[in-house]
Amino acid sequence: MKISVKGVVVKEVNYGESDKILTVLTAEYGIISAIAKRCRNLKNKSGASPQLLSYCSFLFYESKRGYIVNDCEVLEVFWGVIKDLKSLSLAQYFCELALALSPESPNSQDFLRLFLNCIFYLSNKNKDMLLIKSIFEMRSMSLCGYIPNLVYCNKCKKYNPEKIKFYINRGIIICGDCSKKYFIGGHDIAPGVLLALRHIIYSENEKLFSFKISDESLETLSLVSEKYVAYHLDIEFKSLNFYKSLY
Ligand SMILES: [Zn+2]
Repeated sequence: MKISVKGVVVKEVNYGESDKILTVLTAEYGIISAIAKRCRNLKNKSGASPQLLSYCSFLFYESKRGYIVNDCEVLEVFWGVIKDLKSLSLAQYFCELALALSPESPNSQDFLRLFLNCIFYLSNKNKDMLLIKSIFEMRSMSLCGYIPNLVYCNKCKKYNPEKIKFYINRGIIICGDCSKKYFIGGHDIAPGVLLALRHIIYSENEKLFSFKISDESLETLSLVSEKYVAYHLDIEFKSLNFYKSLY
């Protein structure tokens, strides 16, 4: 059986002398791995062969040993990411996160869209990297079943609570009054951070990247988003460590 599918390469491993195993994030099938035989010879008209972060149109053939790449056309190479070490390491973190979350249909459609948009903005350099990182972290987690409830204080149900604390482990917010009485710990988050988190988690795809945030709030947003991923997935992301070492 052959399947025709578009997707972005999120992992590549050399296999034998000139073969590669490509792992591809697709809209219809989530994550798919396929052997690309003589991958280095598999070039399209512009001379590009599929590699990490290439967006391609694939024709996969299903064999007893799994999928084999029958044909591939590279549709987009994000040079602005590939040629910049910091952007590349952040994009590799997104790849690791995609593999860890392994989105399934129908959520894989929104996941692929999110991934491509984040890589596009990283490549074009017209949005803050920390903002793109936070959006990818919180939105991808929410798409894959780790959605926090940031609508109201989990105790008194107030929608616009004062002195909010974000409890990353439980994925809830608690207002100042309730946290004083009933809770310990939690991360203080300013109203601007709460609004940004709500926007990232609950907005429509079309509006996801259109919001403004102060530099100070962005620092907190990035910190809590990263901690949220780290706590719930409990994985050490090598590319994230590398990205952070580049500051
Ligand atoms: Zn409350």
